[in-house]
Amino acid sequence: MKPDVLNSLFLRSYRDARQRFLSLTQERGLSVTTHDLGVPGRDGEALAMDVTWDGPVDASHVLLTTSGVHGVEGFCGSGVQCGLLASGVELLKDAPDTAIVHVHAVNPYGFSHWRRVNEDNIDLNRNFVDFDQPLPQKPDYAALHALLLPMQWPPSEANEFAMRAMLTEWGPRRAQLAVTGGQHGHADGLFYGGLKASWSNRVFRSVLRQFTVHCQQLAWIDIHTGLGPYGVGERIFACNDGGESLTRARRWWGEGVTSVTTGSSNSIPMTGPIQMAVDAECPRVKYTGICLEFGTVPSAQMHWALRADQWLALHPGALPAQAKQIKADLLAAFYPDSDDWRQRVWAQSLEACAQGILGLQSDD
Ligand SMILES: [Zn+2]
Repeated sequence: MKPDVLNSLFLRSYRDARQRFLSLTQERGLSVTTHDLGVPGRDGEALAMDVTWDGPVDASHVLLTTSGVHGVEGFCGSGVQCGLLASGVELLKDAPDTAIVHVHAVNPYGFSHWRRVNEDNIDLNRNFVDFDQPLPQKPDYAALHALLLPMQWPPSEANEFAMRAMLTEWGPRRAQLAVTGGQHGHADGLFYGGLKASWSNRVFRSVLRQFTVHCQQLAWIDIHTGLGPYGVGERIFACNDGGESLTRARRWWGEGVTSVTTGSSNSIPMTGPIQMAVDAECPRVKYTGICLEFGTVPSAQMHWALRADQWLALHPGALPAQAKQIKADLLAAFYPDSDDWRQRVWAQSLEACAQGILGLQSDD
């Protein structure tokens, strides 16, 4: 795709991204179901999760794409969804009884405000837990919390020294799990899973139930950014069981599909990812899915940007220049502004979607 065309799809505000998404559905004559969050966005705009259906309404094969589960990462996912809409009927031309469903901005608040979390500081990929059961205790996170989010920003050398000492003692995997695995004990902390199902959780579950009425086979590509080498789309297995569906995912998307449970992924097992909703809301559907995770900046830089942004959320009185820099750094960590990155994202996403559609045809 030419850079100017890509630039018209990959935008830099939620309002523009949503408008582009909606106008493309209109051009294609596709209907949209809008779920309003009911609070205004950064620029006063309406915030919503928008769902569109491309293909036969009673299709038994469905490819689902989702953008913005992690708010600010939605710029990338929205660009991909817009590209797929702009590609028109091309993708589905040899795929009878197949539709593509796009869920745009699962977390519209974070998308608009350039945050990874939602309006309640919840990381949606840690929020799909069973809240009727006791919530997991995360003593490692609790030990780190005050060091991750000190009173002053940037943190003191002593703070960083103490934090690094703790992480080094634990080793890389325990350290990554401690920080990013998800926690329910610190509502003002990082990777917070919440104490009840968030708005996005409830709405997304209802969306899943509605569009899978006729669906027998579901392929899902959930688009994320921030982990792994720059411009590389890691295909992370995202089903709840590791047996038949992992074999199927590797048949569709290649042997390179990674797994968080075996340690082959840049990511780690987390409590309550959004994919938990499939078994609960549409258990009869044969489901195969991946997270498509695009690398951006080195992980140390990404974590620094996340800590800074969380500090800013807790210190709204920060100097405007500092606040502006923190937001710019956060966007850069999840959405690099370069033609080359966008080009690589688009090519790999298009390939993964085409493979998903092919997989749906081949695996009845
Ligand atoms: Zn993400």
